[in-house]
Amino acid sequence: MRRMAFLIDTHCHLDAPEFGDEAPLVRARAREKGIGLCVIPAVARFNFSVVRELAHRQQDAYALGIHPLCTNEAQDGDLDALDHELALRVSNDPHLVAVGEIGLDYFVDNLDDDKQERIFHIQLQLARRHDLPVIVHVRRSVDKVLKHLRQVGGGKPWHGIAHAFNGSLQQADACIALGLKLGFGGALTFDRALQVRRLATELPLDSIVMETDSPDIQPHWLYRTQAQRAAGEAQGRNEPGELRRIADVLAGLRGISPDELTAATTQNALAALPKLAALVGLQENTGHPA
Ligand SMILES: [Zn+2]
Repeated sequence: MRRMAFLIDTHCHLDAPEFGDEAPLVRARAREKGIGLCVIPAVARFNFSVVRELAHRQQDAYALGIHPLCTNEAQDGDLDALDHELALRVSNDPHLVAVGEIGLDYFVDNLDDDKQERIFHIQLQLARRHDLPVIVHVRRSVDKVLKHLRQVGGGKPWHGIAHAFNGSLQQADACIALGLKLGFGGALTFDRALQVRRLATELPLDSIVMETDSPDIQPHWLYRTQAQRAAGEAQGRNEPGELRRIADVLAGLRGISPDELTAATTQNALAALPKLAALVGLQENTGHPA
C-alpha cells in the first residue's frame, strides 16, 4: 500500500510561460509534498516536443493534442503531425499516456465552432486508432463532447478524464457511464462553488481524479479578486504542489482521511491512464519518493 501514498496531478501545464525557467523548482517542490507524478498535456503542435522533453526530464507523463482554444490557429498539417507523433511514440515511449488536451469550449466566443468540432472529432479518431485514453476539456460543452465520444466510440467505452468538470450531476453520470473519470481542479476549494463541491462530494469516489490545472484554476488561498488586483496584488500562480492542500479540502468535504482520498484517487488515475503504471515503477527505481 505504501506505493499508493502519493498523489498524481493528472493535469498541469508545467511548460506554460507563467513558470518560466522555474519548472524544475516547481516540480521539486511538488515532489516534497508527495506529488509522485504529473501529467503534462500539450495544447498545440508548437509544444509537442516541449512537453515530451519536460516529461522525460522529470520522469513524468505527457499527452499530445490540440486544445480547443488553439484550434483557430491550427492547420490541417497539425493533425497529420499529431498522427505521426502518436504513431512514432505510442509503443516505445512510456511517458506518452494520452491524447490531450482536446475538447470543445463554448465559453470563449471567438472560436470557429465548426473547426473546433472537426478537430476534436478527428483527434478522438486518432485516440482510438492509437489505442490511447483522452484528456478532454468540457467548458460549457459537455453534451456536445459526449455526442462525439459516443459517435467515435461506437458503443465501446473510453479511458480518460473529463477535466475541470463543471457540469450537472446528470452530465457527470453520462461521462462516467462512458468510462471517464472526472477532475475538478482548484475550483472545489471555493465555498461558493456549490455545484462543483456537490459533485466532488457526492459522486462515487472511484470516479474522481486529482488535478491542479496549473498555472490556472487557483485554489481560493491563491486567488486574487479583481479589486485586490486593482489594488496591486498579483494573481496567485497555481502549481502542482498545491494538490496536497486541494486533496485535503476534498477529503474534508467527503468526510474521509487524506490517506484514503490519496490512495483512491491515485488508483483512479492509473485506471484512467493505464500507462501511468509503468511510470510509477520508474519513479521508484530512480529513488524518487513515490
Ligand atoms: Zn488544461
